[in-house]
Amino acid sequence: KPRVGILGAGQLALMLAEAGERIGVDVICAGSTGDCAEQVAPLIVVDLEHVDEVQTFADTVDVLTLESENIEAPVLANLTNLAPNAGAVKIAQDRLFEKDFLRFNGVATAPYAEINSLRDLTEALKVIGAPSILKTRRLGYDGRGQVRISHVDEAASAWAHTGGAPCILEGMVDFECEVSLIAARSANGELAFYPLVRNEHRAGILRVSTAPYENKKMQKLAEKHLKSLLQALDYVGVLTVEFFVTYDSLIANEMAPRVHNSGHWTIEGSETSQFENHLRAVLGWPLGSTASKPTVMLNCIGSMPTLEETKAFPALHRHDYGKAAREGRKVGHLTIAAEETATIEEWKKRLAD
Ligand code: ATP
Ligand code: MG
Ligand code: MG
Repeated sequence: KPRVGILGAGQLALMLAEAGERIGVDVICAGSTGDCAEQVAPLIVVDLEHVDEVQTFADTVDVLTLESENIEAPVLANLTNLAPNAGAVKIAQDRLFEKDFLRFNGVATAPYAEINSLRDLTEALKVIGAPSILKTRRLGYDGRGQVRISHVDEAASAWAHTGGAPCILEGMVDFECEVSLIAARSANGELAFYPLVRNEHRAGILRVSTAPYENKKMQKLAEKHLKSLLQALDYVGVLTVEFFVTYDSLIANEMAPRVHNSGHWTIEGSETSQFENHLRAVLGWPLGSTASKPTVMLNCIGSMPTLEETKAFPALHRHDYGKAAREGRKVGHLTIAAEETATIEEWKKRLAD
């Protein structure tokens, strides 16, 4: 059996391991004792900031991949069996590199500026204006490391809020909705795209994903963008790009060099899940079909709903990551796939209640 190692052992590693189990791939996770993927896969205790420890782990597997882009550059540097490659990860882990890269490849973004001081911020606000968002370049997720600026006179408090870390200032996009495109590129260049999925956030955290977001023009444009990005990066694996939909176009928000929360619905909704296609891609196997049915996924934030609360939905798939309950934490998700979109909209309303 081929052996795929994952740097990280959270819920994404857990679902990669479950996909591996189905297709005869041994998935081994590198993380800390008690990480949730330990429930389904062998876990090797590895300090992911330690170059030699990661190299030793890499040497025990055929292909090494990751569930988080936040692996330090010196650790990434000499890993010869890493997919996606270190260059792609370095771009995706830094909002400034990421935005520069998107623009360079013809993908529109919000206006942005590099911010390293309060003075930079004050100057940038003269150009970009308010409303805008100050975001740390690295390590932000679920809206952390961001502060919204509604008036230009809030510069000092915003700068204090991010603690002086290198940042970018982004103009606020007036969007109709948010979508993401999940794509896979295999080691031999084969491409696969999922249908666009519509994402709804609350308090900076993804709450609901509904697939497909049916719009032929936007689907075509998103696929064109992903194709350019994947080729420019010589990328292998699943890549996700989040977009804002405006009245006539797409503006890229960020990209993730990995399987993504907005793709969890593919486990039940697609012929081949994002997790299986990621493993296939990094192993150089032919990609599986992304044919999909209308599906809705709800994130469980803080705690899982009780079985009592979900029993009214016999078609519902519960994914409990086995993590301790904690405010603001993603502890699981619920999915319902249907034959037609109307049913999904109805289920979505009832589930939201
Ligand atoms: P994730 O958990 O998706 O990785 P994150 O912490 O990296 O989130 P972003 O995706 O950059 O943060 O922003 C979180 C949310 O904030 C976006 O999904 C969007 O709703 C809103 N947002 C971020 N940037 C902008 C912008 N420039 N204009 C309008 N809304 C924005
Ligand atoms: Mg992000
Ligand atoms: Mg995001």
